[in-house]
Parts: sequence; C-alpha cells; structure tokens
Amino acid sequence: MEFRRLAEYYERLEATTKRLEMRDILVELLREATPEEAQRIAMLSLGRLYPPYVGIELGMAEKLAIRAIRSVTGASEAEVERLLAKRGDLGLVAEELISRRKAQTILLQEPLTVEQVYATFERIARETGEGAVENKVKLLTGLLAKADPKEAKYIVRLVTGTMRLGVADMTFIDAASALLGDVAAYRDEIERAYNISSDIGQVVRLVKVGGIEAVRSVRLRVGVPVRPMLAERLTSAAEILEKLGGRGLAEYKYDGERLQIHKDGDRVMIFSRRQENITHQFPDVVRMCSERLRVKQAIVECEAVAMDPDTGSMLPFQELMHRRRKYDVEKAAELYPVGLFFFDAIYVDGQDLMDRPLPERRSVLEEIVEPSEAFGLTVAKLVDDQGDLDSFLQRAVEDGCEGVIVKDVSPRSVYRAGARGWLWIKYKRSYVSKLTDTLDLVVIGAFHGKGKRSGWYGTLLMAAYDPKTDTFKSVCKVGTGFKEEDLERLKSMIDERVVPEKPARVDSLMQPDVWVRPEIVLELVGDEITVSPIHTCGWGSVQPNAGLAIRFPRFTGRYRFDKGPEDATTVEEIVEMYRSQLKTVVPEEGEVV
Ligand code: ATP
Repeated sequence: MEFRRLAEYYERLEATTKRLEMRDILVELLREATPEEAQRIAMLSLGRLYPPYVGIELGMAEKLAIRAIRSVTGASEAEVERLLAKRGDLGLVAEELISRRKAQTILLQEPLTVEQVYATFERIARETGEGAVENKVKLLTGLLAKADPKEAKYIVRLVTGTMRLGVADMTFIDAASALLGDVAAYRDEIERAYNISSDIGQVVRLVKVGGIEAVRSVRLRVGVPVRPMLAERLTSAAEILEKLGGRGLAEYKYDGERLQIHKDGDRVMIFSRRQENITHQFPDVVRMCSERLRVKQAIVECEAVAMDPDTGSMLPFQELMHRRRKYDVEKAAELYPVGLFFFDAIYVDGQDLMDRPLPERRSVLEEIVEPSEAFGLTVAKLVDDQGDLDSFLQRAVEDGCEGVIVKDVSPRSVYRAGARGWLWIKYKRSYVSKLTDTLDLVVIGAFHGKGKRSGWYGTLLMAAYDPKTDTFKSVCKVGTGFKEEDLERLKSMIDERVVPEKPARVDSLMQPDVWVRPEIVLELVGDEITVSPIHTCGWGSVQPNAGLAIRFPRFTGRYRFDKGPEDATTVEEIVEMYRSQLKTVVPEEGEVV
C-alpha cells in the first residue's frame, strides 16, 4: 500500500471523534491492506513498531526531527521555530515547509510505501551507540525527501510520537471483528487472542490471513506476556461476600509492583503490568526464581515489594523507584531488596491453567514455589464470615498492606486476562476520608504556577478514562501533595507532552493554560466524590447536566509508570464509588476498627 493512501485514511480518522465511524474507517483500511501491512498499520497507528514486550520503541526527539526537516527544505532554524510557535505541531510545520518545495522534485520520485516507511522507522529505532544521532537524522531526512506534504505531516508525527488519531487497541479489536462480518460473534475471541499475546498487530494479521480459525489458534507462550487480570472494588465485607456467593479467598493486597514472571529452562523473563520487559531491573528476582521456582516452564504472577534489609519489614511502593535505572541495578538491588509474594499461576510445564479455577491454580503455585523469607505465596485465608473478613483486612493493614483482594473460589473462577471483573474484589478501608480507595488519574491539562510555584505548573487538570467512548473525562484539578522535586519532574514530563489544542480523546469543559497529551498517570486520594457542574466525568449519570468531581484531591507521591492511560480509574468506577460512598458508614470516634 502506498503511504499516501494511509495518510488519507489518517486524515479521515482525525476528522471524527465517533468511535463507530472510526471503526468503519479502520475496517476499510484493513480490508485494503495486505496482512503484513495490516499488522504494521495497527502498530504504527498506536504509536508503536512492536508490541511493548519487544522493547523497541518508535520515538525521536523533536529537535532531531527539526534537523531533518531543515535539511530537506532548506528552512532556517528561526523559520522552523517561528512556524512551530504558530502551528504548535511539528507535523504541520513539515507539511507547510515541504509544500513550498518545487512540485517536480516530488513528481520524479517513486511513491513511498507503508513498508518503506515502517522499515525506515525500524532502522531509526534500532540505531544506538556512536553516530546514532547523525544516522537517525539522515534516515529521516531520506524519508522526508521522498514525501509529499501530507505524508511528511504523518511521518513527522509518527516518528516523534505525536499522532492524535484517538484510536486505541480496543478500536482495532472492534475493527478486526467487524472485518470478519460480525462484531458480536467474534469480538470475545479476538480479544482473548489479544489478551494472551499482547500483540494487536499480530492479531490483526491473523484475522486477515486465516480468519477466526487463525485467531482461535493463538496459544499462551512462555516469553510472551499475558495482559493482566484486574479487580473490581467494594467497600464492605457484606457486599463482597454476597457478590462472591458467600465465600472467597481473601489475600493480602501488597503495596508493590506486579511482576509477571516467565521461566523457560534457565531463562527468566520479567514483564510489567503494561507488558514491558523489565527483567534488567530485577537481577535478584531472576536469581531467586531460577533457584526457587521448581518447574521447567512457567508463567506466574507475584507482587514485588520493597523490603527493609535491616528489619525485613515491607516498605512503601516508592522505594521500588530505585530500580528504574539503566546502570548500577545490582547495587540498587542490594540496597533496596524486594520480597516476592506469588498469587497466580497461568501456565506450568505445558499446561495452560487459565481456565482452571483459582483453588487449583493456587495449589499448583504451592507445589512449585519453594518458600524462603522473602519468597512465597501471598498470605491468604478462606473466609465466609464478615467479621473474619474485617479482621483479616485489619491484619493486612497492620502488616503494611494496602488492604485485601477477595477472590472467587467457585468453579467459574478462571484467570480472566485483560479484564477488570468481579472474580477479584479489592477491599481497602480508610476511615480518614470517605473515599475508600486511591484513584489513578490522567493529566490532561495544566495551569501555570504563581508565587512560589512560578516557573512550574501549579495545578493539574486530571481525568478518568471512559472505555466506552475511549475518551478522558475531566474529574478534578489537583494542586496539593506535590513536593518541589515533583513540580520539577512534572514540569519536564508535561512540557514534553504539551499540545496546542484539546487532544481528540479529551473531554473537558474546563480550559487549562496548556493541554497535555493524556499519558501521565498519577495516584490521587480525595475526601469524597461530589456532583459537579464543570467536570465531565459521569456526565448525566447521577444528575442531569452535571458530572462528578473529586473533593480535596491530593497527589500521593506515586507516579503510576506501570499504568498506561487506558489503565486509569474509569468513569464507571467513579460513578460506582459515588454510589457506594452514599452507603458507607463512617465509624464513631473511638470505635475500634
Ligand atoms: P492498584 O492501583 O490498587 O494497584 P490496579 O488497577 O493496578 O490497582 P487492581 O485490579 O485494582 O489493579 O488491583 C490488582 C493489583 O493489586 C494487581 O495488579 C497487583 O499489582 C496488586 N496485588 C497486590 N496483592 C495482590 C494479590 N494478592 N492478588 C492480586 N493482585 C495483587
């Protein structure tokens, strides 16, 4: 397929915010593409070259892209800067400057193909080491020299990671299902294939190559991360037990980082909650798992918790940040050791356990995990009584956990990859505020700081995710809880993501000083959820012409790098929290909890 054709589709996608229309445009596009092109187009449209676990990222600094644009168009630095300030988007700048070139220079060229553009991006991404910067610029220059203005716009946006199509992985799943002629009939199977392969490009390719049969043939593979099963939340023991049919396995909810560990003979690989390969951050975990997981092949999940080396007690999540570095990881591992608490087994020695009930998966875990002080299963207790569940929660909190997760133990308690569902229910209790849980919200805008905060952003506009419309809906402004180092750090994180207009997937009535691409996820706590006429979260679901807002929100200090924006707290969860808050009973002062 010619790249020009893809650019036309991108323009059509940009012109709509309606999910169904987007899906239909994608169906047309996928129909026209070969299977290989479809795979690449799916990846590119989501701003990637490969699925996250491969670890090769598309992405070039804006200033390098500017150099390439200048060398193709002969524009001066001042001119590019001026245009960039005016248009606010380097893609548009490239389009304008390239359109000024003489027409015949382009006519002489062979048209660019999707394959060529992808292959060049791949070479750009793989350039490392000495001379890499020069080579990257050269490669991009070569590509832009062959591009017409519209193509140049998208090439620059793709390579600098600033596409704003509003298309998400789930839009591709819908489109792939529609391509087979019946969304309702095929969506679940297509989503299943995605959940166990974490590779939307591959799934789209399979749909094209072999239809639903090919999709059905996707199997779990050691070395390929599975999208995680997630929990719903409730605020009372009674509701939880009722939901689970009177009985559940209550487990400590550790305050750490989720690791999906894949063991294949001598090799151990570790994947994050977002399916990135993070093996290099945990050399100590690799060693522990080589020694203490008594299996040849396995996919298991655990929570890694930072431990105090002197006392052996658990430390807050933030201590794990020391592991996010390229160098001296061994040293960090020594200074900030982790304990591992296993809670699930997905695959063990040739057996796919996903469809087995939890008690069975847990007994497999018991067989294969050889415990030591910092290595074992989660503390768990079978409960069928509210009082027992509440005292277990209290014990968990005293032991330094966030709360508990109560899990279904009935025959239907399978591992539901990639889904938040009622088979796992988290239960945290904080009587300090009426809000019983933290929220993970996405930065969509920012306001310039004043006084002591001038030069930084003083307040951030935060949003919840709405998977139904694939949009981010504003839910509060937050200016509390930021230390100076946070302000500094957020300034540069935000500046990298500032966009001139409200991003396509953002839904907000409020107008911040700057709009921010919805990518940064922060953990907040608040006092309660209130009805609000200015925030769009849950608009009309509690009161007509009003949404919901978080009252007195504060940043907890926790950056959720382990979450993508689509993993943020959803609008539905906030509506649910608002409703359950009306039911929550705050204990009397002095009451023992
Ligand atoms: P949170 O922000 O509370 O970590 P989340 O959106 O990441 O939530 P949830 O589905 O709400 O995910 O809670 C499940 C998370 O809790 C898991 O991703 C895992 O990191 C963590 N966890 C800690 N202990 C357990 C446990 N015993 N079983 C399952 N998950 C656990």
